[in-house]
Amino acid sequence: MAQKHTSAHSTNKSGLLAQIVNSSPVATFVINQAHEVIHWNRACVMVTGVSEKQLIGTTKSWKPFYDHHRPVMADLIVDDQMDQLSTYYPKKCHPSTTIEGAWEAEDFFPHFPGGGKWLAFTATALKDEKSGAIIGAIETLRDITAQKIYQQQLEHQANYDHLTGLANRHLLHTRLELAISQAERDHLLLGVLFLDLDNFKQINDTLGHDAGDDVIREFGGRLKTSVRDLDTVARIAGDEYVVLLYAPQNIVQVTTIVRRLLDAINHKFTVREREIYIGASVGIALYPKDGKDSQTLLSNADAAMFRAKQHDKGSFRFYTEDLNKDALQWLELKQELHYALTSGQLELYYQPQYSIQEKRITGAEALLRWNHPTRGLLHPELFIALAEETGLIVPIGNWIIKTAISDARQWQEAYGQPLRLSINISARQFRYDELDELLDQAITQTGFHPLNLELELTESLVMDNPHEANKRLLKLKEKGFSLAMDDFGTGYSSLAYLNYFPFDMIKIDQSFIHQLGNSEEADAIVRAMLQLAKALQMRVVAEGVEDQHQRRFLEEEGCDEIQGFWFSRPLRAGDFVKLLQTQPA
Ligand code: C2E
Ligand code: MG
Ligand code: MG
Repeated sequence: MAQKHTSAHSTNKSGLLAQIVNSSPVATFVINQAHEVIHWNRACVMVTGVSEKQLIGTTKSWKPFYDHHRPVMADLIVDDQMDQLSTYYPKKCHPSTTIEGAWEAEDFFPHFPGGGKWLAFTATALKDEKSGAIIGAIETLRDITAQKIYQQQLEHQANYDHLTGLANRHLLHTRLELAISQAERDHLLLGVLFLDLDNFKQINDTLGHDAGDDVIREFGGRLKTSVRDLDTVARIAGDEYVVLLYAPQNIVQVTTIVRRLLDAINHKFTVREREIYIGASVGIALYPKDGKDSQTLLSNADAAMFRAKQHDKGSFRFYTEDLNKDALQWLELKQELHYALTSGQLELYYQPQYSIQEKRITGAEALLRWNHPTRGLLHPELFIALAEETGLIVPIGNWIIKTAISDARQWQEAYGQPLRLSINISARQFRYDELDELLDQAITQTGFHPLNLELELTESLVMDNPHEANKRLLKLKEKGFSLAMDDFGTGYSSLAYLNYFPFDMIKIDQSFIHQLGNSEEADAIVRAMLQLAKALQMRVVAEGVEDQHQRRFLEEEGCDEIQGFWFSRPLRAGDFVKLLQTQPA
C-alpha cells in the first residue's frame, strides 16, 4: 500500500475517503505520484471485470484496458504530460467543460471479458494542498456503449438504405463530393452511372410488394458484386440506383464495367420460386467532361438513362449535350399529347403484309402517327412511352381499335375478300382487363370477324411475366382473336417458350432481316427461326424487308409473309385502299 499516514486523524480521513470512493456508483480509480493504484472502486470492478486485488499497489492501471503497457490518462496527468494526451487519445480528448483542470476522453476497448465497450473517462490531478505539487490523479469511467451503438445506428440510418444496406442518396452525395475534390487534385476520371429497372412497377403490381422488395435487394447485391470495393453503389429511390466509378482509366474501361453490370443483371432472378427476367437502363455521365459538380453529374446521368429507356430498354447511353434539350422537349410533348387525341392530330397508317408464296396482300398493320402542329409527323417511338407513362394509352388505344376496325371494313369492298388487320397492343393496355371489354364491344358493334383481328404483342412484353401473360393470351385466344409475337428475337426468350404461348404468328424483328446477306450468322438465325416456326405450325412475317435480296432469301427459306419498304411503306388509310384496288384479288 502506498499511503502510510500515521496520525489517527488522517487515517480516519483516508479511511473515510476510501469508503466514499468505494461506494460511489461512478467507476473511479486513483493513482499516486509513483503511478501505483491506490483506489479501484467496486464500480470499476463492475465496468472492467478486473478485481481490486489484482491492481492495488501495482503500477498496472493500464492492464484492464490494454493488452500492452501504455500510460492511461491518469498516468499522463501525474507526469504533467497533458500535451501527450492527444497522441494517445487522438479521436476524442479535450479539457473538461465542467471540472476545471480535468481532461476528458473516450475510446473503444475491445478486450473486456464481457465484450468490447465504449468508455468515456475524466481524469484530474490530485495536488498537495500546501505546495500545489501533483501527488496523484483520479480518473472516472463511464460506460457509453449503449449511447454509442444508438449513435452509430442513427448514423447508419442517415447514410444507408434500409432495404439493401447500400449507400443512400445522402452518403452518395458525400462520397461524390469527396471523389470530385480528389479527382480535381489528381486529374482523375469519374464515372456516374444512373440505373433504373425496366418494368419494375409491373413486378410490384403482379407479384406483390414483398416480391418487389426481394428484387430490389437482389438487384443491389448484383450491382455491388460487379464493381470494385472503391466504387460506391447507392440506391437513391424506389428502383433507381447510382454507381460511382472511382478513377476508371478511360471510357473503354467504363464501357466494359457497364457491360459487365448489364450482364449480371440480365441473368434470371428467382423470386418466390418464380423465374423472372429484369432489365435495367443505364445512363452515364463522366467527370470532368459532363459536369464538375455532383448535382450536374447526377442529373446528366439521369437524362442519359432516360434516353436509353426511351429508345432501347436494357441498354446504356452516354450523356451528350443535346440530351437536356431532348428532356425539355419530352416534357412539352407530354403536355401536348393530352390535346392530340381530342383535336384529331392522331392518325393511323397501314402497312401491307404481303404473302410471298401467294403473291398477294394478306393483311395490314395499323401504325400510329401524330400530325403535330409544329413538329410535323411524329412516329410512335417518340410518344408511345409518354402515352404509357401518363395513362393516355388507354383512351388512345381505344381510339386505335375503333378507328382501325372501321377502316378495315372498307377493305373488303375494295379487295373483294377479307384481310387481316394487325394492331399493336402496348404493355399497359395488355395488363388492363378493359382491353377484353373493349375488343368484345368493337367486335359485336361492327360484326368484324375476330380471327381477322390480329393482336401484336412484343416478345419482351410477354417475357416480362410469361406465366401471367400466357393466361391473358389464352383468354384472348378463346375469344377467337389471332395473336402475333412482335419483334421476335429481341426479348431474350428461349425458343422453348414459343411453344408455351398460343401465338399464331411470329414477326421476326427487322434487326435480323437487315443483316441478311451481310452476316452468315444472321442468315443462320433467320433460317433456324423459320424452321422452328414451321415445326410449331406458326406463320412467320419478316419485318423490315427493304430489298430484293432479303425478299429472295426469305422466299427460298419458306417465309410466309413479308412487311417492309420493299413492298410498301406504311400508307394513309385512303392510299392503302387505292393500293388494294390495284392488286389482283
Ligand atoms: P412494330 O410493331 O415492330 O412496327 C414496325 C415498324 O417498322 C414501324 O415503325 C414501321 O414503320 C417500321 N418499318 C416497316 N417496314 C420497314 C422497313 O422496311 N425498314 C425500316 N427501317 N422500318 C420499317 P413505326 O410505325 O415507327 O412504329 C414503331 C413501333 O411503335 C412499332 O413497332 C410498334 O411497336 C409501335 N407502334 C406503332 N403503332 C402503334 C400503336 O398503334 N399502338 C402501340 N401500342 N404501339 C404502336
Ligand atoms: Mg407491330
Ligand atoms: Mg416489330
